[in-house]
Amino acid sequence: MIVDSSPESGDGVSKDLLGDFVSSLARIDAGAPDCLDSSTLARALYSSDASIYRVVPRAVARPRSVDEVAALMRAAAEVGLPVTTRGAGTSCAGNAIGEGLVIDLARHLHTIHSLDPESRTAVVDPGVIQDRLQDAGRPHGLRFGPDPSTSTRCTIGGMIGNNACGPRALGYGRTCDNVVQADLLTAAGDIPRSARRQCRGFASVPVERTLPRRIWGSSAPSSAPSPVRCPATSWSI
Ligand SMILES: Cc1cc2nc3c(=O)[nH]c(=O)nc-3n(C[C@H](O)[C@H](O)[C@H](O)COP(=O)(O)OP(=O)(O)OC[C@H]3O[C@@H](n4cnc5c(N)ncnc54)[C@H](O)[C@@H]3O)c2cc1C
Repeated sequence: MIVDSSPESGDGVSKDLLGDFVSSLARIDAGAPDCLDSSTLARALYSSDASIYRVVPRAVARPRSVDEVAALMRAAAEVGLPVTTRGAGTSCAGNAIGEGLVIDLARHLHTIHSLDPESRTAVVDPGVIQDRLQDAGRPHGLRFGPDPSTSTRCTIGGMIGNNACGPRALGYGRTCDNVVQADLLTAAGDIPRSARRQCRGFASVPVERTLPRRIWGSSAPSSAPSPVRCPATSWSI
């Protein structure tokens, strides 16, 4: 853990609350505090996204596993520390900044676990960059439909958070139309179950995303997508 040595700043979250959080976190998972960074540098780096806003967080976490994400969420809930999840931070409205704990889900959680050309689904971590998923699908003539202009940077988790679209959204739908299943964490850090999308356009629960055939290919975009699983993130349901 990297500890803040700077004088108290004007943030809305006190150092005492952060101390309570670290104690709680260490009790839940002894190794998890190692992923915390409350240095002045980290707090400055994570104080902005692509918006005009700036909010300095009290600390940043870069979890290395889903278990660590769950521990962070549970400890934060115990002490009442506000949490903001973050992918690439390309949001334009301050979506990825907050005064409490910012959890960076892109630093370590960026594995494409599998890609099944038959069912046209892939199982991915939330921090997978959109273009990396496109690279993986390309040899099979597949692509992930929605494509924001920031696709070289933005993550699947962030796309879900924003329900991102893009120039091909009219053909392929929004992100929510292409997620078949999601493993979720509640705000309390519980993992209730995998949530599966029931119908096209039902937005709330992602983890599997579909890989329609290329828009320039011979097949039209499928209306019955098949998944690419995209593991645990901190969705509140
Ligand atoms: C120049 C520019 C062009 C853009 N063009 C488009 C466009 O064409 N279409 C479009 O839709 N958007 C566009 N955007 C907005 C943005 O880039 C996209 O919405 C992108 O998908 C956000 O992804 P991200 O990884 O940067 O997410 P972030 O900005 O890091 O996060 C987005 C939201 O999701 C939440 N979040 C992130 N990860 C997780 C997770 N694992 N679990 C739960 N919540 C999570 C965050 O808390 C935040 O609320 C553009 C932005 C810029 C600056």
